[in-house]
Amino acid sequence: MKKRYLLTPGPTMISPDTLLEMAKPIIHHRAPEFIPIMEEVREGLKYLFGTKNEVLIFASSGTGAMEGAVTNTLSPGDKALVVDSGKFGERWNNICKAYGVNARVIKVEWGKAVDPAEIKKALDQEPDIKAVMIQASETSTGVMHPTKDIADIVKNYENTILIVDGITGVGVFPLPMDEWGIDVLVTGSQKALMLPPGLAFAGLSDKAWKFVETSKLPKFYFDFKKELKNIKDNQTAYTPAVSLIIGLRDVLRSMKEEGLENIYKRHESLAKATREAMKAIGLKLFAPESPSNAVTAVYAPEGMDAGKIVKFCRDRLNVTITGGQDQAKGKIFRIAHLGYYDRFDIIVAVSAIEFALKSLGHPFEFGAGVKKAMEILAE
Ligand SMILES: *Cc1c(COP(=O)(O)O)cnc(C)c1O
Repeated sequence: MKKRYLLTPGPTMISPDTLLEMAKPIIHHRAPEFIPIMEEVREGLKYLFGTKNEVLIFASSGTGAMEGAVTNTLSPGDKALVVDSGKFGERWNNICKAYGVNARVIKVEWGKAVDPAEIKKALDQEPDIKAVMIQASETSTGVMHPTKDIADIVKNYENTILIVDGITGVGVFPLPMDEWGIDVLVTGSQKALMLPPGLAFAGLSDKAWKFVETSKLPKFYFDFKKELKNIKDNQTAYTPAVSLIIGLRDVLRSMKEEGLENIYKRHESLAKATREAMKAIGLKLFAPESPSNAVTAVYAPEGMDAGKIVKFCRDRLNVTITGGQDQAKGKIFRIAHLGYYDRFDIIVAVSAIEFALKSLGHPFEFGAGVKKAMEILAE
């Protein structure tokens, strides 16, 4: 028998109820029966993003919405300020490069969060920076950046917008767009939204919509203005991922039922249990100062290749976690805890690490992590 556990920061596990919803015969997206589905999804997305404005839906992975955020707000040669603290910060920079946006990069040591004062300094030095681009949660390092503090700074600059990659933030911890003044917030379906990959979302503030009016970068599929017009009629410009949107309706219903506050608390508790469990077995956290509640990055024991832990979990235990990328490759492993996760999934993850370490000959008190996790989850 092979019972699989998917504990990665995307794709994440999906509720059987949602899977069944998506297995129903497909319907036509221009037929009347699609309208109430889209109406409900629009409302649910506004609730999730904390905005009165429309949240646009695209049939792509999350990166599509990141690209659209750039191409719909900026023009060739515009200046942007990019926070690069890992793989996904790098991606903002690469998108800027692809479109001829002049990106000034704040490099942050992997495992650390950006200091908002650096952003203020850069904006004061170069007032013609049109957009600041950050990750709410840098998935490659397990860091949470101080989005609210950054938004508090950027909102004082009339000609600058804040673009936030919330792909492992939305649905994990609070990112209320309107309240905090986030100008563009993007996410994807396969993370905290508990769906298969294939949907990307973008919410825009009134300030960001003004930038759209003057943006001159090329765009076609990811044309926000065209999609805004369509979504107001409960449509998308091109064929939507119908089954995923039907799944999304189910997910948003369950999120509303649980309530955002409870969802955030659940993630906080699961993340804390994971972190404390790793410490209890003597492992060091990669991002101890500003950890994300979406994913925990952990150093492998001194002298052990982290890839071996990941491989043992996958090949021997059918538990999929992830390793580190680039400079963190071989050094860290990452346990995700976002989306369709409850306390028992954390026990699975922690025990898998313990089984792996024991089998790989690492000395530690077997069971100490699981015990610690249970104590925290019982609180
Ligand atoms: C997963 C992820 C992405 C990329 O999303 P894709 O769906 O693979 O395009 C971007 N940013 C962050 C922070 C992510 O975690």
